[in-house]
Amino acid sequence: MKKFKKILLIDLDGVLNEYQGGFDKNFIPKPKQGAKEFLEKLNENFELKLYTTRNKLLASKWLIENKLDSYFTDITNIKELSWLVLDDRCLTFDGDYENSLKQIQNFKPWYKK
Ligand SMILES: [Mg+2]
Repeated sequence: MKKFKKILLIDLDGVLNEYQGGFDKNFIPKPKQGAKEFLEKLNENFELKLYTTRNKLLASKWLIENKLDSYFTDITNIKELSWLVLDDRCLTFDGDYENSLKQIQNFKPWYKK
């Protein structure tokens, strides 16, 4: 029987690649060091979907060229049903709007800190 895996949506820019701002819609920076090993490990227990606003064809070409395509079952720009989302530009809502307002006001992605 096939084991059901929880779904993770994983962002591309700033998570799996060396993106540090200066978005270019025609170019996807190379994978971040350790990304392949990270995906390999996650793929043991989760179903992975690439979550990106990039052109789907360009994103899939990037995955194939970098030999990362086998870790993903799909590429989507829609917030699909998932257990968790991993993104460099999101916050975890903790139930406290005041706290969220502060976090939003002070937000910086990890590569701008
Ligand atoms: Mg990102």
